[in-house]
Amino acid sequence: MSFKRFKTEKLIRDHLPSILRAKRIVLNERIMDKEEFIIRLKDKLLEEAQEVNASQNLEDLSEELADMLEVIQSIAKATGLSMHHIEQKRLEKLKTKGGFDCKIYCNCVDIEENNPAITYYLEKPQQYPEINSSEHEIDCIFCQIARQEKSVELLAKFKHCYAIKDQFPVSAGHVLIIPNEHTENWFTAPDEVRSDMIKALHFIKDQLDREYKPHGYNIGANCGEVAGQSVMHLHVHLIPRYQGDMEDPKGGVRGVIPSKQKY
Ligand code: AMP
Ligand code: ZN
Repeated sequence: MSFKRFKTEKLIRDHLPSILRAKRIVLNERIMDKEEFIIRLKDKLLEEAQEVNASQNLEDLSEELADMLEVIQSIAKATGLSMHHIEQKRLEKLKTKGGFDCKIYCNCVDIEENNPAITYYLEKPQQYPEINSSEHEIDCIFCQIARQEKSVELLAKFKHCYAIKDQFPVSAGHVLIIPNEHTENWFTAPDEVRSDMIKALHFIKDQLDREYKPHGYNIGANCGEVAGQSVMHLHVHLIPRYQGDMEDPKGGVRGVIPSKQKY
């Protein structure tokens, strides 16, 4: 009889050797020393946390959370920590820092260089990598909206962009399509962002068709100050047009230079 061998290399529950042997599975196991045991337990906790993360339904979730709890209890026992002590810590933190009931998600933090609190973040570059954003990006209104620092009504969110109403609409329903990440204009944006913005344009156009029933549209992006760009974070204008909104609309976007609109 030939065997197939599968690598496992992990800590397993105490009853598994006899359960597996009853199924005629041959185990190559050994008993670890305490030091290795604690290391493997910590690895196990990561493994279980990943399984919690991957769980698809409540039944799976309860199984995986039960495994995590078992591993946490084993780590406590192996290191001589009491669960009571851990529970006290949990309650202390709950009092000082709160729990997670408020569902707060923090995108990033901005800290002045002379603020002593900065060392906490600088010492943990893996956990808190520094974003090399220029001061301009911190001030940028469309970055702030993307980071949800400004309460603006989002019409829709897409993978790489979002849509809002223009603050000073040229016509009823004027919308801006804006990438989440700061980039100056259409030509500096990555391809995947541009194609997501095109999808967004079509999606919003269908919404505007239903809500405003316009008779036409202008699509436009001002690229660079000389082209009239005033917010230096890419945005595409989708401007619904209505019969009679201009006396003679001929030339449309040629109107960026009014004397050249007509030809
Ligand atoms: P431009 O850079 O020339 O394409 O112009 C920027 C556009 O963004 C203008 O149409 C403004 O009305 C619009 N805008 C600027 N700030 C906001 C804001 N906070 N919310 C919505 N629209 C804005
Ligand atoms: Zn920006």
